[in-house]
Amino acid sequence: MSNCIFCKIANHEIPGKIIYEDDKCIAFLDLSQVTNGHTLVIPKTHAANFLEVDDEVLTHMTLVTKALANKIKDALQASGINILTNAGEIAGQTVMHFHFHIIPRFNENDGFIVNFEKRLDDIDLDDLLNKLK
Ligand code: AMP
Ligand code: ZN
Repeated sequence: MSNCIFCKIANHEIPGKIIYEDDKCIAFLDLSQVTNGHTLVIPKTHAANFLEVDDEVLTHMTLVTKALANKIKDALQASGINILTNAGEIAGQTVMHFHFHIIPRFNENDGFIVNFEKRLDDIDLDDLLNKLK
């Protein structure tokens, strides 16, 4: 039996506030509710993170996440939604079973902070381009 907490939720071995379920994935309310309605979408088959999840499952989950994000936005009258996934400890991943976060947004002070403002000065964009294209 798996020790993974999200596998246990997917297998109904421990309870979750499940808002959606099908044969490939399951969505439930995040215990910590960063904002009102914060939801996680996970595959039923264990995968560590976004980088490792099966392509077919990921494609399916992306469509489910889109539908749920729209449903949550309408139901809670959110103004916007952040969809994000953390891959690896340094990126903030604490549960090593792939999950999309659906984070409804209401206003600037709704509890969720994401910072794209800090810019690194010494980055050579052409060097990056050569490495990445
Ligand atoms: P991450 O830091 O991206 O790995 O996100 C893991 C999330 O899982 C956190 O937001 C936790 O609040 C949430 N979480 C952990 N355990 C549970 C649980 N048993 N039920 C619901 N959410 C959970
Ligand atoms: Zn798992």
